[in-house]
Amino acid sequence: MRETRLYGSEGGEAKAFPTPICKYNEYMHGVFQKTKLLSICRYYMENVKNTIKKLISVLGGRFSEELGIDLSKGISTEIFKWFLASKLFGARIGTNIAIKTYKEFERHGVLSPEKILETGWDGLVRILDDGGYARYDFSTATKLLEIMKDLKKFYHGDLNKLHEMADDEDDLEDLLKGLGKGIGDVTVNIFLRELRSVWKRANPFPSELVILAARNLGFISQTEEPLSALKKIWLAHTIKGKDFSDFEAALLRLGKDFCKKRKCDKCPMGEECGCKKVVS
Ligand code: SF4
Repeated sequence: MRETRLYGSEGGEAKAFPTPICKYNEYMHGVFQKTKLLSICRYYMENVKNTIKKLISVLGGRFSEELGIDLSKGISTEIFKWFLASKLFGARIGTNIAIKTYKEFERHGVLSPEKILETGWDGLVRILDDGGYARYDFSTATKLLEIMKDLKKFYHGDLNKLHEMADDEDDLEDLLKGLGKGIGDVTVNIFLRELRSVWKRANPFPSELVILAARNLGFISQTEEPLSALKKIWLAHTIKGKDFSDFEAALLRLGKDFCKKRKCDKCPMGEECGCKKVVS
């Protein structure tokens, strides 16, 4: 049973549900939930699709796509690339540095378990330093080597095999966390959320940043179960060419870069958020 109500943050500790900054949308969502009268919340309902569209187009969707990784066909080599990128994103480090470091791995052709093992500790530290990952270079190089050894030993270097061997969603997360000397909740969450439509057992809870942004935009209320509520919203307002992972990643970007830092004055979703509107 997945009863936990704690959520890992991007590079942070697990925390309880975040409180939304925007009380207006929380209020409007609550009104709609209670009354179910479309006329009362016409503005809210009509604008949900446009808000989602703008959110994805302005903030960006899946990080894997931004890195040129194609997860859509479930090919093992592409899934591994995303796994490596997720490991880099998982540290307390800027997104730009993680992206730059991934690009360094790509430039050196070090994008498989075998290549990582061949490159060795010194070579990995050099790649990590070139990408600006200097703060975590030694520890990340060590961890990557340990993870690759386990991946080769237990799953023939293929993450699809790891998925096949998992009994259910929780077991999948546990198998991933058990690689090397352990992979953190944040990294596993990042990795699995973009595999939702690829792996049937990939179904992690949304991160607290996703929930924070979703609540501020009025997509979900304080009392709703976040994942099923967000999926319901997405199914009712699907955008052509995009999937739920794009929606989730865009919310993550908003939560991380704006809501968490309380940058409402610079936020591209300020108009839609309604945080300047007054609730009596
Ligand atoms: S940062 Fe943007 S989405 Fe978040 S509360 Fe402020 S205006 Fe709303």
